[in-house]
Amino acid sequence: MTRPIKALIHLQHLRHNLLQMRHCAPNSQIMAVIKADAYGHGLHAALRSFDSADALALLNIEDAISLRQIGYVKPIILLEGVFDAEELRLCQAHQLTPVFHHASQLAWLNGLSVRQGHFPALIKINTGMNRLGFNPAALAHAWATLSAQPCVSDIALMSHFACADAEDAQTVTAQMRVFDAACAPYPAAQSLANSAAIIQHPSSHRDWVRAGIALYGSSPFAHQTADSLGLLAGMSLQSQIIATQNLQAGDCVGYGASFCADHPMRIGIVACGYADGYPRHAPTGTPVWVQGQISCLIGRVSMDMLCVDLSDIPQADVGSPVELWGQQNPIDRVAQAAGTIAYELMCAVAPRVQRVLCDSTIQELATHRSNPKQNKIF
Ligand SMILES: *Cc1c(COP(=O)(O)O)cnc(C)c1O
Repeated sequence: MTRPIKALIHLQHLRHNLLQMRHCAPNSQIMAVIKADAYGHGLHAALRSFDSADALALLNIEDAISLRQIGYVKPIILLEGVFDAEELRLCQAHQLTPVFHHASQLAWLNGLSVRQGHFPALIKINTGMNRLGFNPAALAHAWATLSAQPCVSDIALMSHFACADAEDAQTVTAQMRVFDAACAPYPAAQSLANSAAIIQHPSSHRDWVRAGIALYGSSPFAHQTADSLGLLAGMSLQSQIIATQNLQAGDCVGYGASFCADHPMRIGIVACGYADGYPRHAPTGTPVWVQGQISCLIGRVSMDMLCVDLSDIPQADVGSPVELWGQQNPIDRVAQAAGTIAYELMCAVAPRVQRVLCDSTIQELATHRSNPKQNKIF
């Protein structure tokens, strides 16, 4: 038997979450954002779950080309655009949709030959986040350059919100005002909304919405649970107890002896550590599901192991199932306890953790061991 840690990927939950997003934005086309290996779930799982989305969005042109090679025909958006002139040629060859967010990318359009094919483009406008995008004053030049380029078949406009998850709508409203003023002269499709805006800012939906975190079953909001939004966990990070210890009062646990028992207690050692992607900074008290109930982490997370309190779970023993996060133990709660966000936890699940794809009825229907050195991902 292999080491018992695995990430179960629930394809039906991913599909359900996509439908939830459609329900929120019924009049928009939906881009499923699958960057960072589909937020750690694997491109294979994403492709199987999000085939009904209207487009896919990611960062790496290599992944985009792989999607084309296995026959994906809908738009594929490169959210950071191209990183050199050669990649524009690949956009031509594979009909990819790069985002243009900087003048350097416009310069690479020179020298493209229309005989090598066409591609649609997105122009990103900086409406206040000050990360990627042309300032409104530079939009006219970007538009003129792209529309004069015979290789560019279509142009759409986009921006990104800095605070779509905030309880007050002030910065979203301000960014939309800048966007609307900048876009007014141009007859182009628009895209603004990430998951948080899809859920709470209907006026931002426009032609295309860009769903990420909600597809994977995490709430974009600190003040609302995924459950209350009707989202289901896309990933369940599971392992097992591989040893137990009985502590006496005064006995300490793990590196740094940061946890010391003040009464006799039983603990379990779980085959999951920071080298699997579990956050090392998660403190004592972080929720861990063990054999049917919520227990908690104690002591420091080590590279390959962590410890849980078994005092109230006498039936738990070597081989007992553990869910680090997932359906029983919401990832948002684990993230909050660890002082981070679910995005980071999902993306950090290590390549050594096997992704096991499961469909509603057939468990372990297909297995995909992710291997970063392997170029063929499907
Ligand atoms: C990652 C990303 C998204 C998705 O954001 P979520 O908060 O995960 O829904 C949308 N748009 C852009 C440009 C992104 O980079």
